[in-house]
Amino acid sequence: MTRILVIGGGIAGTATALALHKAGLDVAVHEAHPDTAEDIGAFLTLASNGMRALVQLDASDTVTALGFPLPSMRVLDDQGGEVAHVPLGEADDARLRYRCIRRGELNAALQAEAIRRGIRMTHGSRLLSIEDGPDQVAARFADGSVATADLLVGADGLNSTVRRSVAPGTEPVYAGQSVFYGYTRSAPVTEDTGHITMVRGSRVAFGYAVSPDRETYWFARVAGQALTAAELADPAPAHWRERLVASLRQDTTPAAAIVAASTDGIMATNATEIPPGTPWRSGRMLLVGDAAHAASPATGQGASMALEDAVILAKSLRDTPDPESALALYESCRRPRVEHNITVSGQMSRGTRTPPARTGRAPSAARPGDDKLLGQLDWNVDLRTASSSTD
Ligand SMILES: Cc1cc2nc3c(=O)[nH]c(=O)nc-3n(C[C@H](O)[C@H](O)[C@H](O)COP(=O)(O)OP(=O)(O)OC[C@H]3O[C@@H](n4cnc5c(N)ncnc54)[C@H](O)[C@@H]3O)c2cc1C
Repeated sequence: MTRILVIGGGIAGTATALALHKAGLDVAVHEAHPDTAEDIGAFLTLASNGMRALVQLDASDTVTALGFPLPSMRVLDDQGGEVAHVPLGEADDARLRYRCIRRGELNAALQAEAIRRGIRMTHGSRLLSIEDGPDQVAARFADGSVATADLLVGADGLNSTVRRSVAPGTEPVYAGQSVFYGYTRSAPVTEDTGHITMVRGSRVAFGYAVSPDRETYWFARVAGQALTAAELADPAPAHWRERLVASLRQDTTPAAAIVAASTDGIMATNATEIPPGTPWRSGRMLLVGDAAHAASPATGQGASMALEDAVILAKSLRDTPDPESALALYESCRRPRVEHNITVSGQMSRGTRTPPARTGRAPSAARPGDDKLLGQLDWNVDLRTASSSTD
């Protein structure tokens, strides 16, 4: 199997292309968006496991040039009292520190790196349908063009078109929280950069981090009804700010003042997840990233899991004799780990599980497969050896 089509040039698709290219495979990416990728302008945190995957792709310098590191996490209760201040992930290694980055900047930098390495990336190329045959798979695009390949990787996100062919009828499920994001340079926050502060409010889960140039990045996760399609299509930042401030004022934490100071627009989305058990592959098609296993954002692991997918998929194709064994090995490595993340994150979003931050542990701690992950991600270790070890 040599020719691989990746549908979607988001974090999962671009990282997959970097990994497949590194493994010597012929890869081309088709991204629907005419510029870089679809993005509402929000930020995310990359965890140590995601940063480790980037090291394996020789892309950590590309990413550590962006955003800012978060070596530790503070946790405040609803009265603003500090209940924990713990190191985050592998804080001692500068390359593996948690990092706070605007999603669009991360995506654009990864795409630029892929193009620099000679990977073919076509923007404005929206997949419409797939014909999967015994000898090849054909992808038909909105501009009328058709591309063929030996394997088609669906990295086209939460509302994946590829998933309609692989797992017809599977739809994302609302995970019980709407999520708001903002930035402000005028928040009355005096603390330093270098940590994320999680505020366990009585009604809203809130987090913020201050960049080295004193911009405060914040998010708020609010339990209740999902935002409607009309609300998302026609954003009402001033109205959202008012409602958030009213909820956050019930507590004596910095959260209400930070949101009140965010006059440059507030972004919103719903927390959604793909139900565990969703098929990921059929014939010559495979789903990765959010298309396969989107989780609610509570554990902050979606992008890091997508980066792990990329390295492990490329290694599975490199280290096995035929595509069927490769995709079976890939799925056996990935499914328990990512589905545990969907479950835990969904329970946190629905309020049926205590956030790890409250227990003083980093959000990515103790997932199935953690013991084998280092070997699975290590580019120089055969994936079959790493996955069969018993330690
Ligand atoms: C509110 C929220 C907060 C989050 N916070 C974090 C966090 O702190 N840390 C973290 O690690 N993760 C976080 N995530 C998750 C993270 O953003 C995703 O898991 C990650 O971006 C992986 O996405 P992806 O590449 O699989 O999909 P996407 O980023 O959705 O990319 C899919 C790409 O496919 C393209 N596409 C779609 N359809 C087609 C088509 N038909 N043809 C061609 N191209 C197509 C799209 O334009 C897009 O560029 C968060 C997610 C949300 C919603």
